[in-house]
Amino acid sequence: MDTLTLLYTITAALFGLVFGSFFNVVGIRVVKKESIAYPPSHCVHCNHELKALDLIPVLSYLGLRGACRYCRAKISAIYPIGELLTAVAFAVTTWQIGPSLELIVGLVFVSILMICSIADSRYRIIPDVVVFSGMGVAFLLRIWIHPLPFWNYVAAFFVGGGLLYLIALSSIFILKKEGMGGGDIKLFAYIGLIAGIKLTLFTLFAASLLGTMYGLVQMRVKSSREDQGIPFGPFIAAGAFISYCWGEPVINWYLSLIHFN
Ligand SMILES: [Zn+2]
Repeated sequence: MDTLTLLYTITAALFGLVFGSFFNVVGIRVVKKESIAYPPSHCVHCNHELKALDLIPVLSYLGLRGACRYCRAKISAIYPIGELLTAVAFAVTTWQIGPSLELIVGLVFVSILMICSIADSRYRIIPDVVVFSGMGVAFLLRIWIHPLPFWNYVAAFFVGGGLLYLIALSSIFILKKEGMGGGDIKLFAYIGLIAGIKLTLFTLFAASLLGTMYGLVQMRVKSSREDQGIPFGPFIAAGAFISYCWGEPVINWYLSLIHFN
């Protein structure tokens, strides 16, 4: 990595911390149908308004040892985790894509994925308003910036959404339980618009793999606990992120194995 790339990457990480803090607010307030701008950030327990010092990403959480400064109630670890993950995601995206127009698409993509993951892990909802805004922005960006032909992204929108819809249907008919929500279907359609057909299919593979691995670990940890299912959104988001950053080289590597052995 050269010095300039390193500089971009560190800058992106710092922006990620701040944006992550904002995504926490969006991901939580949008679900509760509250305004994003008002009231200012406050403790959910004692309602005390938070000052600038309480809003420094990650550091204020560590400094206060995960408790509210005013009422000492515990603060959810989702906040610093969301901030850190956004910082890492922004940094990795910038490092992988480099300074180019596609980086705009990449950072917008990561942002929508983060907000959906935060809302889904907290409330098991992928908010319509976030996914639909994401789709609108993605569509406009892809008209302008499209490494693949534009039709590929539009087709992937239907392939991604359609595939998840089929999985949802078969899970209802075969397993007799709802495995996939409408939010997951819309999120996958959105991913199609950004990633194109090939990487959308790879996202499905990566997300299923991550979800299965997590499920296996969970089963070992608490085997007797009743299975209440896990929100799939964060796994879809992680799969999409991996696919967007490394899908192409992984697929090529895999194809080279088939061709030369
Ligand atoms: Zn408090």
